[in-house]
Amino acid sequence: MALLFSVVTVENENAFKYGLSTLHAWIRFMEMILHISYNLGFEKWSATTPENKQLKEDKKKYVQKRFREVLGLHIDKPRQGSGNSNDGNTARRFFQNYQCSAEITGIDEELIKRLYVILQTMSSGYPINAEKFGQYTLITAQLYVSKYKWYYMPSSVHKVLIHGAKIIEHYAVLPIGQLSEDAQEARNKDYKKYRLHHARKCSRSATNEDVLHILLYTSDPYISSLNKPSFLISKELFDEVKELLEIKGDE
Ligand SMILES: [Zn+2]
Repeated sequence: MALLFSVVTVENENAFKYGLSTLHAWIRFMEMILHISYNLGFEKWSATTPENKQLKEDKKKYVQKRFREVLGLHIDKPRQGSGNSNDGNTARRFFQNYQCSAEITGIDEELIKRLYVILQTMSSGYPINAEKFGQYTLITAQLYVSKYKWYYMPSSVHKVLIHGAKIIEHYAVLPIGQLSEDAQEARNKDYKKYRLHHARKCSRSATNEDVLHILLYTSDPYISSLNKPSFLISKELFDEVKELLEIKGDE
């Protein structure tokens, strides 16, 4: 615990100016749970002895097999080219089925559920109550440390659990979801359309210039906040999430 918090004081707030990336948070949170799970048999940050390496390998195979059987998910499989099969959809389904995920991984269900609440809150598109969010993430961090202190918290998770509230305060103008790259991802198809129909084709740099201009004026956060259809409070949002958001009770 002492270690966890002493780090906080020496950090540079500049590091937060890029905000919270919600898409990556879903994936990083899931990967953390998986990696703790693989090492659960020997409770160490890394497997150094042959016995531990074997334990880790076996657990990983078991976890992958069960996720495939129970949820049809391909977890931590290398992809052709680069990276692995852990994408945003996989991570969402991992957390939506948090009871299953807890059972398969052997990781504390309450911890996975709390991480899910945090992820829902960050991606809801609603303004977040930074103070309540800070309380919730702090208790979550404490739960993590009380259960798995042998597995150092990855920096991407630390950033959300320890500094998330600060970052949200910093960006008080806009709901965090609007600054995330979920929005960027959603623009891939716009990009193709603009390139085809709204850009000069005489040179590559002219094409790119035209496309960038359209992307810029159609994505200005202020402009898009004016005509954004109000986010639906999805049935999926837990009551715990609504508690952390700045929304009217009658919605
Ligand atoms: Zn920190």
